[in-house]
Amino acid sequence: MVERKIITAREEESLDIEVGKDLIKMNDRLAAQNLEILNKHGVIAVDVMGSVGAGKTALIESMVDRLKGRKRVAMIAGDVTTTIDADRVARHGVPSIQINTGKECHLDANMIRKAITELDLKALDLIFIENVGNLICPADYALGCQRRLVVVSVTEGEWMIVKHPLIFKSANVVAINKLDLATAMGLNVDKLAEDARTINPRILVARTSVKNGQGIDELLAHLGL
Ligand code: MG
Ligand code: ZN
Repeated sequence: MVERKIITAREEESLDIEVGKDLIKMNDRLAAQNLEILNKHGVIAVDVMGSVGAGKTALIESMVDRLKGRKRVAMIAGDVTTTIDADRVARHGVPSIQINTGKECHLDANMIRKAITELDLKALDLIFIENVGNLICPADYALGCQRRLVVVSVTEGEWMIVKHPLIFKSANVVAINKLDLATAMGLNVDKLAEDARTINPRILVARTSVKNGQGIDELLAHLGL
């Protein structure tokens, strides 16, 4: 038998944990203020999280098209350096703000504060916030959104959910995306849905395909939109 060892990082051993705790506390305070500002204006914000290539932008485009004439929508896009996603959504006639995070692999409440200050909240009902493509630290950084959506695609394989429990714990809705490719990928979509519900029994699951429009209405319903 080959020797097999497991090292589990404990909180108190992590070097940046003290700084980290203060940062998260500060972020939580700012997020609570953001939520207050959004609620005061009757604006719903959706934090859209998921890996690069999961289909976050495409899903947002698809939802924006269906909500046309029903809701006044804006988009805030987080990206390390490009403006590709904000440009894409802007083409659907939606005001968009790009946040380039530089070195940071997540959006935080302070960046969102700056962005919502730039938007005319009185003229809006809804803001989609596309987080940086990453399933780890966005879980720790609340933005002050009323809803949190995680997008996973069937092309990412069968372990995407079980390997990222924190982000699913903090989410209200999961979209299992690129459903049209599930058969080609040989992926068991029921198992993925079950994984999400095991981690978070209250999570709502939508099975979506931007390509054929499947599940987009269900996703909007799950988000209460
Ligand atoms: Mg994107
Ligand atoms: Zn990060």
